[in-house]
Amino acid sequence: MNHIPPVNKREILKILLSCMLPISNAQSQDSHSGKVKRIAVIGAGIAGLAAANHLQKLGHNVTVLEGRERIGGRIWTSKQWPNMPLDLGATWIHGVQGNPLTALADRINAKRFATGYESAITYGVQGQVLTKVQTKELDQVIQLINKRLEAVQDDDELESDISVRRAIMPLLRGLDADSDVARLIYFILNSNLEHEYGGSIDQLSAQYFDESKEFSGGDKLFAQGFQVITQHLAEGLNIQLGQIVKAIDYSANQVVITTSQGVVFADQVIVTLPLGVLKSGQIRFKPALPDNKQKSIEKMQMGVLNKCFLRFDKAFWPTDVDWLEVIPTQHGHWAEWISFMRATKWPVLLGFNAADRGREIEGMSDADIVQDAMQTLQRIYGNNIPQPIDFQITRWAQDPFSLGSYSFNQVGYKPNQRDILAAPVKGKVFFAGEATHKDHFGTAHGAYMSGLRAAREITD
Ligand SMILES: Cc1cc2nc3c(=O)[nH]c(=O)nc-3n(C[C@H](O)[C@H](O)[C@H](O)COP(=O)(O)OP(=O)(O)OC[C@H]3O[C@@H](n4cnc5c(N)ncnc54)[C@H](O)[C@@H]3O)c2cc1C
Repeated sequence: MNHIPPVNKREILKILLSCMLPISNAQSQDSHSGKVKRIAVIGAGIAGLAAANHLQKLGHNVTVLEGRERIGGRIWTSKQWPNMPLDLGATWIHGVQGNPLTALADRINAKRFATGYESAITYGVQGQVLTKVQTKELDQVIQLINKRLEAVQDDDELESDISVRRAIMPLLRGLDADSDVARLIYFILNSNLEHEYGGSIDQLSAQYFDESKEFSGGDKLFAQGFQVITQHLAEGLNIQLGQIVKAIDYSANQVVITTSQGVVFADQVIVTLPLGVLKSGQIRFKPALPDNKQKSIEKMQMGVLNKCFLRFDKAFWPTDVDWLEVIPTQHGHWAEWISFMRATKWPVLLGFNAADRGREIEGMSDADIVQDAMQTLQRIYGNNIPQPIDFQITRWAQDPFSLGSYSFNQVGYKPNQRDILAAPVKGKVFFAGEATHKDHFGTAHGAYMSGLRAAREITD
């Protein structure tokens, strides 16, 4: 992290007056009495909104600074297709039982639909539905992979961490890369691990890739999109859109935040910037963040999951299942699809690409991505299937406000790295966001809980 030049107070005063700064003088006087704090929250994703909502309810003077022209961050419901609110970022409450987002959704009576991984069809390389024997083989391969990864995790003799690919090598030894078993192994690794964590099997830590905890009870998606949650949390908050934060100076009594629109003063700041943005070094901290925090940011990694929604006039695929799993001809190409027909009755298919392939497709044109997706569907359902009437495509790695989809534990990960990232600095700079949650990273509920944790750190 770079240093910013010393703040010129007269300059700041000028900018302050010209910009109509969000935190007013009257409130700042209150704060000096020790009762009301001026708190700036950077980022209007679910972590920032949860923190701001909690602190404002306690009577603090909270301002949320958001770089984009919308709230929600990686929760982003598209309204492009009337009556089909589609989530371009988070879709599901993963594990509804005991999940704090379930309680929140209940409070606002948000309609939800369940989808299940058991409601699935798996197609082979030629596009045929797997036979019972082939399905049994697939289950056996899953068990082999799980056993192998557990063995590596339990191996006390292992001197240093290795990648998932290296851990799996003994299973692949002697196998032709095009053999059926090798294809099954790569398919499982891609659809179960790369899609879930966003990192490639070369990057994922065999020791720690699955360190996160899970709620039980299956998954549910929102009839009106995940935005119902972020909109609810944002009610009544002072949110400044288009405020791209450039620098955070916490060297003096008050924190000085320089944005694309001016300068904001606060007593304390909660930083909910995505790990990708922190890694890019775009935000200058003065003084520089502690060495151990900088090292954690360097060593942790951002994964990629991209979505391609295809809308058809009517469904030509089986409509009684949620998931269409496809053993691909090339590693990671369109291995998983969700059909919205069972849950919402929309004739929409959503195809996923993650990790290396997820990054690769971001360099392709929309037309090429759709054509590539259609080739997979044609392999299964024949060349006469209709073309989509429309599509929506994400490119999360290129998005300057997230630079990736979510964080994962890469080779060499140490169990305290996320706690180090989360630790407050000098009682002035606090950290939240999915990457700071050791147990529920990579999820919307993890981000939400991290926001509440940072808010409590301030009030405690
Ligand atoms: C494709 C995809 C699918 C997913 N699916 C699921 C799912 O089904 N279920 C689930 O639980 N989770 C899912 N997730 C993960 C979930 O979306 C995230 O973990 C969660 O939304 C992160 O919230 P956050 O508040 O930590 O970060 P963000 O939502 O990224 O919020 C950070 C905010 O900071 C802002 N910001 C960035 N830079 C600046 C700057 N310089 N100045 C000011 N503001 C800035 C951003 O614009 C953003 O609004 C998915 C994510 C993706 C991308």
